[in-house]
Amino acid sequence: MIIPVRIKDSLYDVHLGENILQEFCERNAEAFQKVDQIVVISDENVWNLHKDYFQQNFSLPYKIHLVPNGEACKTFESYFNVQTFLLQENCSRNSILFALGGGAVGDLTGFVASTFMRGIPFYQIPTTILAHDSAVGGKTAINHPNGKNMIGAFYQPKEVLYDFHFLQTLPETEVRSGLAEVIKHALISDENWVNEFLHLASIADIQKRELLVWLEKGIRVKAQIVELDEREQSYRKYLNFGHTYGHAIEASVGYGKITHGEAVMIGLIPALMLSELHGKVEVGYAHKVFGLAKKLGYQFQHVLNCSFEQLATFMLKDKKTTNGELHFALLQKIGEPFVKVISMEEVKKCDEQLRK
Ligand code: NAD
Ligand code: ZN
Repeated sequence: MIIPVRIKDSLYDVHLGENILQEFCERNAEAFQKVDQIVVISDENVWNLHKDYFQQNFSLPYKIHLVPNGEACKTFESYFNVQTFLLQENCSRNSILFALGGGAVGDLTGFVASTFMRGIPFYQIPTTILAHDSAVGGKTAINHPNGKNMIGAFYQPKEVLYDFHFLQTLPETEVRSGLAEVIKHALISDENWVNEFLHLASIADIQKRELLVWLEKGIRVKAQIVELDEREQSYRKYLNFGHTYGHAIEASVGYGKITHGEAVMIGLIPALMLSELHGKVEVGYAHKVFGLAKKLGYQFQHVLNCSFEQLATFMLKDKKTTNGELHFALLQKIGEPFVKVISMEEVKKCDEQLRK
């Protein structure tokens, strides 16, 4: 299955399916003959788990460069090491990069690609559920000690190759993390789709076939929004649903101590509470999703380990905050997002509900 993404002058496809790596290489073999180097960037976890599959199916000559697992690769040091590797391997403007991994590897590789020799093409091969979100839309970044994703670029991949084969080895924590972004995509786009989650009793309950359909739907939602607004001037802010409070939880608990998705799931609840107040979302809906999240094992006790003052400080530092005003993505009704300025007092009331 192919989902086209059209962002101004970039036009690329997201290919989805199981065991599609070999087909990708066959389809591109001729074009890639003109390339002087292909470099695959991956992390140690992913490479150890999937090198056999990759080597058997990626029938193009390539060099591999491994970076630390997960968030630890989004550092200046990793960024520098990848650039050094590319220079040592005599890469040029005619070289291409592949990101084989989760959102962290994708964000790092995309940022390297956007700056090496002023920009070389890159391809995303996402290996996590969460990366159905991060691989599409062209946000690339590394972290600064003063803030996550602070150094980056908008830089679109040439293609996203989402081979579901890789998802088989994901631990439950990562499935849970990625599912939160899927649920977010459902909440901002389609109430009937949200209902499909409500029957779930646990993460183990998720059927592979339904997950693949959800990932396809999530990519379509993301693609539609970024096509309208690549640079987050308007519609793209809807994708931040759950993220204002979620990012504050992620920063307060500490990156690496909580997954991005777990923090987003926590953040969805105040966003829904505020949508009941400021939109026409049926009263009690936030509570219903709260119940679902707890059933699925999202750990709300993280909130108790952060003071509200700490969360407020992070919310005020957030990229979405301007002149001390919190710009919250909310829902008019399920599937209909909008953005509203919200006072810290209102957020505090929601926070108190979460702590009960
Ligand atoms: P990740 O890349 O940190 O991966 C999570 C963990 O799973 C890592 O330890 C990794 O080694 C492991 N892993 C990856 N694939 C695996 C597989 N198939 N089997 C077993 N283990 C596997 O995390 P993520 O959750 O994919 O992405 C989070 C990152 O994405 C964050 O840095 C976040 O800022 C970024 N992000 C970016 C965007 C964007 O638009 N660019 C959007 C959302 C999130
Ligand atoms: Zn997110």
